[in-house]
Amino acid sequence: MPWCPNCADEYLEGVMICSDCGSELVAEEPEIVHVMRTRLKEVRAMGWCWGGFQFTFIWAFANKAWLIAVGCLMPGIWILLSFYLGFRGHEVAWRKRRFESFEQYKETMKVWDKWGLWWFILNMTLLALWVIAMLTGPDWLTDILIGML
Ligand SMILES: [Zn+2]
Repeated sequence: MPWCPNCADEYLEGVMICSDCGSELVAEEPEIVHVMRTRLKEVRAMGWCWGGFQFTFIWAFANKAWLIAVGCLMPGIWILLSFYLGFRGHEVAWRKRRFESFEQYKETMKVWDKWGLWWFILNMTLLALWVIAMLTGPDWLTDILIGML
């Protein structure tokens, strides 16, 4: 497929000039670009990033996303970054950190996501218990639980 080296876009067979920038197209997308692009697609298809969502600062730090790590330390902002990392975390890690191989990257993300998901479930369970105990428990317990807020 003809490919624009400037825009990194593919064109249909027979097209000679990039309609976006006017560059002359080359015959094939270089192999390395093709591989990177395919991987990025795969990274984006990995779905919700539980690791980033739950472990915000630790996750950003471990994956060398320094700016995000600093943001995670700011009250109010970390909650936004938490959701941002939930949506885009896999891609952020892929771009920021160097991995030995794509397999190693996927394995690493799998571990983070597994613990992130468990951590989320644990937190939700504790929250549910807290609510149930507060609503149904004796007054002294309710007072203690409200005091935790
Ligand atoms: Zn172009």
